[in-house]
Amino acid sequence: MDSKKNILVFIEARNRKFAEVSLELLCAADRLARELGGRVEAVALGYNLEDELKTLGRYGCERVYYTSDARLAHFTSVPYAKMVVRIIEKYQPGIVLFGATTMGRDVAPRVASALKCGLTADCTDLKIGEHQIKDTLYQNILMQIRPAFGGNIIATIVSPESVPSMATVREGVMKLSPVETEKNVEILPEPCSLDEHDFLSEVLEVIREEKKVNLKAAQIIVSAGMGASDPESLALTKELARILGGELGCSRPVVDSGILDKDHQVGQTGITVRPNLYIACGISGQIQHRAGMAEAKRIIAINKDPQAPIFALAHYGIVGEVKDVLGKMIKAYKTKA
Ligand SMILES: Cc1cc2nc3c(=O)[nH]c(=O)nc-3n(C[C@H](O)[C@H](O)[C@H](O)COP(=O)(O)OP(=O)(O)OC[C@H]3O[C@@H](n4cnc5c(N)ncnc54)[C@H](O)[C@@H]3O)c2cc1C
Repeated sequence: MDSKKNILVFIEARNRKFAEVSLELLCAADRLARELGGRVEAVALGYNLEDELKTLGRYGCERVYYTSDARLAHFTSVPYAKMVVRIIEKYQPGIVLFGATTMGRDVAPRVASALKCGLTADCTDLKIGEHQIKDTLYQNILMQIRPAFGGNIIATIVSPESVPSMATVREGVMKLSPVETEKNVEILPEPCSLDEHDFLSEVLEVIREEKKVNLKAAQIIVSAGMGASDPESLALTKELARILGGELGCSRPVVDSGILDKDHQVGQTGITVRPNLYIACGISGQIQHRAGMAEAKRIIAINKDPQAPIFALAHYGIVGEVKDVLGKMIKAYKTKA
């Protein structure tokens, strides 16, 4: 098989648990590899991960290049980047994908720089397509799609003159949908070919802070924008989220103003969500917010401005003062429940 048709996904593992974005990327790679007639591969670095790696077949992965070494049990930039470079050089995939996480954003540029190839950060979509540069038509190349210029345009970026094409993709953007028939995963051990000079830093202790909010998994999200950021409106937004059994989301200025934590932010630079119900309270609906919630199954928007862009997207729009509307919704729900 032509290795250039294969897609390699960088797998993030912490505490022997894979980051959800790595699994999402395998699913996306499965879709792209079908179009290319190639194989979904993964590169995993860590220690004692063999059993967990076998489960990647559920997401379409057929082969894992795995380096097991106690010194790789915790992530450090230089050794990880060097090993990924060596595996790419050896197996020559055509496309390499990373999560746009702290780890992915650290490793991917180092790898791209070492291999002198293109890297598109924070993609929101990936496709296979073609592109002509002067007399040369490049076919079956990766179209790396992402918002640009503050989200005002959607840019398609290609880097056909260097191989592999590399992209980072934000968490939650690609759908996590296990494949119909689980693949048999072939695990190819790759010896750790690094020496002590590559291990410039040592992890002495890991202090883990669990997320208090899980917007990605929430089926109902009630979100506060600047129009619901005063204490009374925010309390009502929280109350509605609580009685509906949902999570509290918000727009970016609510985070930037220090009212809520970043874990609550929905949008292009926040979290991408796909709940069954999204209630936008006092949110104007700028493109950067919509980028994170447009795929909600049902959207209810509450806004005092009938021209607010959020109404173009909402399935149900309520024009009114956030406090009045939320008060009535809470009362109605409590009376009915
Ligand atoms: C590169 C970049 C990335 C960005 N990323 C994100 C992101 O991830 N997420 C995000 O949300 N934004 C993001 N933004 C910011 C985005 O452009 C908007 O500025 C932001 O979404 C607006 O937030 P908002 O709707 O809460 O506030 P505003 O724009 O201030 O809108 C408030 C809305 O509330 C309504 N309102 C006011 N008072 C009331 C009331 N009493 N009752 C009812 N309605 C009321 C108003 O009519 C208005 O529509 C980004 C911007 C850039 C440039």
